[in-house]
Amino acid sequence: MSRIQLLPEILASQVAAGEVVERPASVVKELVENSIDAGARTIQTSIRRGGISLIRVVDDGCGMDPDDALLCLERHATSKIRSSEDLAAIGTLGFRGEALPSIASVSRFRLTTREAGAVAGTEIVVSGGRIETVRDGGEAPGTQIEVRSLFYNLPARRKFLRSENTESRNVEHQLYLQATGHPQIAFAFVRDEKIAFQLPAASSLRERIRDLHGSDLVAQLLEVQSAGGRSRIEISGLIGRAGLSRQTRTQQLVFVNGRAIESPVLTAALREGYHTALMKGQFPVTFLFLTIDPAAVDVNVHPAKREVRFRDPAGVREALVEAIRRTLEGGRSDWQQQFSAPAEPPVERLNQLPEIARGPQQTNLPHREFDQFELRTPTVESRFAPPPVVPPSHEDAEGPPAWSENLANNGDAIAAPASQEFQIIGVLNKLYVLMENANGLVLVDQHAAHERVLFEELRRRMEEKGVPSQRLLLPQTFDLPPRDAEWVERNVAALQKMGIGIEPFGANTFKIDSLPTFLHAVDAATFMREVIDGLRNMSNSSSALRLGEDMIAKTVCRHAVKANDPLRYLEVEKLIRDLLACELPYCCPHGRPTMIQISLGELEKKFGRKV
Ligand code: ADP
Ligand code: MG
Repeated sequence: MSRIQLLPEILASQVAAGEVVERPASVVKELVENSIDAGARTIQTSIRRGGISLIRVVDDGCGMDPDDALLCLERHATSKIRSSEDLAAIGTLGFRGEALPSIASVSRFRLTTREAGAVAGTEIVVSGGRIETVRDGGEAPGTQIEVRSLFYNLPARRKFLRSENTESRNVEHQLYLQATGHPQIAFAFVRDEKIAFQLPAASSLRERIRDLHGSDLVAQLLEVQSAGGRSRIEISGLIGRAGLSRQTRTQQLVFVNGRAIESPVLTAALREGYHTALMKGQFPVTFLFLTIDPAAVDVNVHPAKREVRFRDPAGVREALVEAIRRTLEGGRSDWQQQFSAPAEPPVERLNQLPEIARGPQQTNLPHREFDQFELRTPTVESRFAPPPVVPPSHEDAEGPPAWSENLANNGDAIAAPASQEFQIIGVLNKLYVLMENANGLVLVDQHAAHERVLFEELRRRMEEKGVPSQRLLLPQTFDLPPRDAEWVERNVAALQKMGIGIEPFGANTFKIDSLPTFLHAVDAATFMREVIDGLRNMSNSSSALRLGEDMIAKTVCRHAVKANDPLRYLEVEKLIRDLLACELPYCCPHGRPTMIQISLGELEKKFGRKV
């Protein structure tokens, strides 16, 4: 007797459901995606008890005629693709024709649907995959799907569900994703008979994000706009400015052709794009949209369509890294506007300043003195703690006012020197520089600020002359696996520029005889392995530079002005100027913020002057 049998249709659907329908949130995902594909302008989702007892999605999309309504419950029935050419370039969210039969096979399911202009609609009731009722229905045009008692016939699956609260949160997150991906559609979410959110159709992503997360977040987002590159990819959306980060990935969203995607390629690209603008272990805030020729992405990778395969992953990665990098650096002037007096553009102002910095009252802030990456903190004699301190006198009438003058000038726009875009008020707790600008109060972390200044200075030198290196007492040789060896051989020149004296020494063997000066006492072979691991994952040519940056960022911290190193007024002032002249002034090389602005408006709110 033969042992192989075809599975009954319902069982086959339940097997498929195992992949597509994991939990209430995945049901919501499939149903909402269907509504979007059906051209809905409004989608309302309701759940009860975390979606375990009920999920209902109502849309005003194109609806189905009675034949389609029946057919859509068959496995592999879809209106979205017809041929394998269609499969190669998918333009809709769905295409597998699996979701509805899968969901209907593991729940008590009810579909009502009606095409606009049709006299009557159709209602179908299915239980555990078996059709129980088909009749005319009288709902409004569009489609309404109700899923009750999810997994009632698959107790093993039901056991894997989490608490109602967790499931409900997952559903909500799923709706956030869809709502972010489709701002032009109105979304509503009702949880246990209470409205959780109601989003009107928005005219832009910015508006949708504001409705979802509030205007405080929107104020910290930068607009990304880029098109072209090797893989002809268009990138748009909003990303958090440097220094803005989260402990989880929940606000790190990337949509590829309208679909929220989780992809190691994209995650790595975000990380590389942010690079020093992101704290270790933190995640950026991104609402990014990649538009790419559908033929250049394969969506048919994961049954729940959460992943994609790119035809040219390196090209996508490069485009994304570049778009983020440019946006963050562009965001710098945006930020500086906040720090400037309204009268004058800050960048121009800063260009006039170096005379003061390099003039006769050259202060002894550490980094100016170091020529060979020799970093020192200010000498003890040079420190004293303001305030209350009389600043060193200076001949230059244009120079910074004394602490006391500063205080006297507070709030007096006319008396304040026209050339000042900020005024230093004092230093709190030997760490936070307090400043006033047109917007209100600015707090600067002097340690983080100094790290950023040193970091950019060192990086500039690395780009110009390469990193000075120091000979090892004993050259070291070591072996590498063939693929690593091949990589090193191709990159010897870049490595040498980074101060690593490495050369081939026979098959798969290399010799190192020098390392960057500022790396103290490391084991050359271990260091080299770190370098290879760090770099091999990167694809583009800027990577050698990036790794060099990593090395610098690691060492800079040790050399920067420490939290409670008291600085003199001029030192503080110069530090602030140097900081504002940096490419990414608002975070240290480890991604921590260097400055925090507290606006006059916020202060007024706190003091109850304004509601
Ligand atoms: P897929 O979305 O992959 O095509 P589904 O099982 O999710 O497969 O849906 C099957 C078909 O049912 C869709 O191709 C579509 O034609 C139809 N359909 C599903 N949901 C809706 C809806 N909300 N409005 C109109 N048609 C729908
Ligand atoms: Mg679908």
